[in-house]
Amino acid sequence: MTGRIHSIETFGTLDGPGIRFVLFMQGCALQCLYCHNPDSWDTKVGKVVNIDDILSEIEPYVGYYKSSGGGITVSGGEPTLQAPFVAELFKAVKEKWNLHTTLDSSGFCESSHAEKLLKYTDLVLLDLKQMNNQRHKVLTGQPNDRILKFARWLSDRGTAMWVRHVLVPGRTDDEQDLEALGQFIGSLDGVERFEILPYHQMGIYKWEQLGKSYGLTGVGTPTDKEVERAYRIIGAARTAVELARG
Ligand code: SF4
Repeated sequence: MTGRIHSIETFGTLDGPGIRFVLFMQGCALQCLYCHNPDSWDTKVGKVVNIDDILSEIEPYVGYYKSSGGGITVSGGEPTLQAPFVAELFKAVKEKWNLHTTLDSSGFCESSHAEKLLKYTDLVLLDLKQMNNQRHKVLTGQPNDRILKFARWLSDRGTAMWVRHVLVPGRTDDEQDLEALGQFIGSLDGVERFEILPYHQMGIYKWEQLGKSYGLTGVGTPTDKEVERAYRIIGAARTAVELARG
């Protein structure tokens, strides 16, 4: 079995617990305005690899991953677009080294497509980008109903999740939207951690290289105060729902 990959990072510390091998898959069905890897969208490009190719890349560092409580994270692009390949890879790293496996996904996936993959996944990093469907479409090019359904399915099957939200001034920081996000998270089981990722413009040069026009020109990084405010609004709404659920 082969897959198309975008790139590899051997010492990732941001995408899951411990030190991690991070594999970025090629291809994504969304087109987020803030994407810092727009070169990962096209499903027809990237490097074609097989499972053994990736296992050889991981092997030299397995000791670091295991002793740090880390493992492997498969990110993107959108890794569920190549769910059968990622499932085989996760199965292989479990059988060979019993590595911890994390899937970093936008959640834009039908549950039936991810069933086998989730069997070998220990943790899902789920990006919830915008609760307002209209604003979600503007932000990503797609509606959010499939994503919210996927999140509910993960919750129902007891999957451990870290939910992440990119805070973009004027795009994803409206009070009502943040409240709705907190309420939705409060209604989910299995959310072990919630993180706000402040928007930054680091990927702009890739948009320029690809000849794409960048839709967030002039939008700055949120201040610490704005990030604190978002945490406060989301946290209060989440807690209220969790208390009501008992
Ligand atoms: S889901 Fe991720 S890879 Fe896809 S467009 Fe959005 S930020 Fe980029």
